[in-house]
Amino acid sequence: MTAAPRSADLFRRACAVIPGGVNSPVRAFGAVGGVPVFIQAGHGPYLTDADGRELVDLVCSWGPMILGHAHPAVLEAVTAAAARGTSFGTATAGEVELAEEIVARTPVEKVRLVNSGTEATMSAVRLARAFTGRRLIVKFAGCYHGHVDALLAAAGSGVATFGLPDTPGVTGAAAGDTLVLPYNDALAIRQAFVEHGPQIACVITEACPANMGVVPPAHGFNELLAALCQEHGSLLIMDEVLTGFRVTRSGWYGREGVAGDLMTFGKVMGGGLPAAAFGGRAEIMDRLAPSGPVYQAGTLSGNPLATAAGLATLRACTPEVYARVDEVAATVAKLTADALATAGVPFRLQEAGNLFTVFLGSDAPVRDFDEARGQSGAAYAAFFHAMLAAGVYLPPSPYEAWFVSAAHDDEAVARIARALPAAAREAATALG
Ligand SMILES: *Cc1c(COP(=O)(O)O)cnc(C)c1O
Repeated sequence: MTAAPRSADLFRRACAVIPGGVNSPVRAFGAVGGVPVFIQAGHGPYLTDADGRELVDLVCSWGPMILGHAHPAVLEAVTAAAARGTSFGTATAGEVELAEEIVARTPVEKVRLVNSGTEATMSAVRLARAFTGRRLIVKFAGCYHGHVDALLAAAGSGVATFGLPDTPGVTGAAAGDTLVLPYNDALAIRQAFVEHGPQIACVITEACPANMGVVPPAHGFNELLAALCQEHGSLLIMDEVLTGFRVTRSGWYGREGVAGDLMTFGKVMGGGLPAAAFGGRAEIMDRLAPSGPVYQAGTLSGNPLATAAGLATLRACTPEVYARVDEVAATVAKLTADALATAGVPFRLQEAGNLFTVFLGSDAPVRDFDEARGQSGAAYAAFFHAMLAAGVYLPPSPYEAWFVSAAHDDEAVARIARALPAAAREAATALG
């Protein structure tokens, strides 16, 4: 592992005043070991760490930076907005424009802006329960919807189980109304509706799961969820916080065309600032205060800087931008697959548009969380650190998608290509 003295020093100081030294757990390198990299700047496809090393970024802030870092149009919009004042606690034009942009691209009729994907899913679930007057939530093991109490249940044992809290601090009462099912399992979801249909307020799913690694929905699975919800008077919440405005200009909906009754957005729509949203049919959304009785609010919701960054990002996401992101993703995926094959590493590449994951250790398909857990964490850790040493920053966990941007030019791709063969050999060694 490379010695990075400034990152190591910052991490020591961070650990004294921040739990685990980080403000979001996956940043701590728990899955791959070693000292997390502190970043001081980002430009285009590159990060500069605290020790002055330039890294090709394959995380892109976990999705938002689809244009690359410090994109001129986004910088200009944010700078201009900041000069006009950073927060007013009242309505602004930018909120209207961002809401219009989202409504124009997706099947939702009305949308409310919030500050994080967690807030979006939390509020969507509350609204679904209020609208249906029911209590049960169905979620799938391995799908991540933020750190909402009721959504942190993910028993994931492969059988339908009522959720046991995944974390201390979430009571049985908060998680006990959450039914956790294996992903892509048509039988399990049909059975859940047979047993509990009249009590199910909503089914929440990632439109295309990418938080257990990329595990696309089986053909017809999302349609089945929509049909079952409709039949039983439940709402389908399509979580597009990660895929929204990234895999196409209309998110996963743009590929598959299955609408949720409610949908959640985040990441790209904030352009690197805290902005997220939930939306749906007007008849449901109008139950929200102040037009309806369901309370939901936020001091910084629709913040002028965040809406400016989001609008500038969405407007700059032209068809050429999506074409470039798709092309880079396909190229990097192919280069990675070739390097692993050459090194004799068994692997499974799974793609969903411009998102992809390489599961190491086996070439078996990954259709749910249990199968995702069959990959080799040790091989990924070895691969990750070899890539990092060669100047490429991968997600510090094997349960993630790799993210590219339209700023990833041929030089950035060439650097990745140069790093891959040795990293693949490290993975082979780790597998023994
Ligand atoms: C990132 C993510 C969230 C949570 O968003 P935050 O802004 O981190 O709270 C929710 N759902 C999905 C699918 C995500 O990828």
